[in-house]
Amino acid sequence: MYKSFLIKYAEIGVKGKNRYLFEDALVQQIKYAMKKCEGEFKVRKNSGRIYVDAQTDFDFDEAVDHLKKVFGIWGICPVVCLEDEGFDKLCEDVIHYVDQVYPDKNKTFKVMARRARKNYPMESMEINAKMGGVILDAFPEMKVDVHKPDILLTIEIREKIYLYSEIIPGPGGMPVGTGGKAMLLLSGGIDSPVAGYMIAKRGVKIDAVYFHAPPYTSERAKQKVVDLARIVSRYTGPIYLHIINFTDIQMYIYEKCPHDELTIIMRRYMMRIAQQIASETECYGLVTGESIGQVASQTLQSLMATNDVCDQMPVYRPCIAMDKQDIVDISEKIGTYETSILPFEDCCTIFVAKHPVTKPNVKVIRRHEENLAEKIDEMVQTALDTKEVIVVSE
Ligand code: ATP
Ligand code: MG
Repeated sequence: MYKSFLIKYAEIGVKGKNRYLFEDALVQQIKYAMKKCEGEFKVRKNSGRIYVDAQTDFDFDEAVDHLKKVFGIWGICPVVCLEDEGFDKLCEDVIHYVDQVYPDKNKTFKVMARRARKNYPMESMEINAKMGGVILDAFPEMKVDVHKPDILLTIEIREKIYLYSEIIPGPGGMPVGTGGKAMLLLSGGIDSPVAGYMIAKRGVKIDAVYFHAPPYTSERAKQKVVDLARIVSRYTGPIYLHIINFTDIQMYIYEKCPHDELTIIMRRYMMRIAQQIASETECYGLVTGESIGQVASQTLQSLMATNDVCDQMPVYRPCIAMDKQDIVDISEKIGTYETSILPFEDCCTIFVAKHPVTKPNVKVIRRHEENLAEKIDEMVQTALDTKEVIVVSE
């Protein structure tokens, strides 16, 4: 019965003069999402509204499923588009609509007409009253409730007439790309894919970097990260995944620095390298899955020691104050959880000391890093020069 969707957006409506930029970005994201569906769709912007019109047969559930992943969408309304052929014909069509969509008539309703085309011969209030009467005559079991109706039947009169009563919730947020780009430090764990999703939801495009340490971390661990990036890309669009070979740097730190500080020093090098890639790729921030207190490297002192080297751009940590279970809930919702819990080691776990420092002192860490002076710059450069880049998308 439906061939079109009316897309409702909330927050982007308040952007004043820049509103059209947000709308255009949303149209682009919707077009990208609909390309993944069977069938052909046209996406059009029309007086502060976005419509998705199917041009061919399509699978309703599949289309809704893809729209539900487009940030910036507040609601997805399956809509019936009618030609204006007079009020009597409209009544007939409305009766048919109600009959089809609500087989159980034991419901309350309210008609809400919006006359955007001012030359329509009836006013909104009049349409509401007359149409309400017509529906009551046709279905005596139905009742009017103007405060909390089960069915809010909206009739929008424009160049065509649009009829809808259902709003399927969208993901909210802002269209990806309207908020610049950031570099996600993506590991194989539960937290970082969630962090990437959360930042992207605010309209930020995501690139990612993964630190790989072969042979200590296997090809399967790397594949797991690629798979996670692919799942996240369902929401964010294509992700440039930078894969850095971190083995030599890790070994060198292991050789030269106290073992209980290894994780912190390693994390400082991850941040340094990530910043470098980020500034070369027009990213304006780093994103991590860190969360206070989760592990030794995420105490406030450890975070401070890690953050000490982040002098080129801010680090965004959307999971920072979240409980693990809440992060897990999001990862289940977005579909990354099953992949995240696959048992492949990530590069931190192999070199982790039995008793890592939980309260590192920044000055001490800096001093111990001086042990690396001889070769570390060269190693970092080699790691950057030999990075592999994969464009991940679904
Ligand atoms: P996650 O579940 O995201 O792996 P975690 O709880 O295991 O996080 P850590 O291993 O301490 O925590 O990592 C903290 C953050 O550092 C991660 O969320 C991620 O952003 C980044 N990170 C850790 N290891 C890597 C890696 N090998 N490559 C890229 N980023 C990493
Ligand atoms: Mg991890």
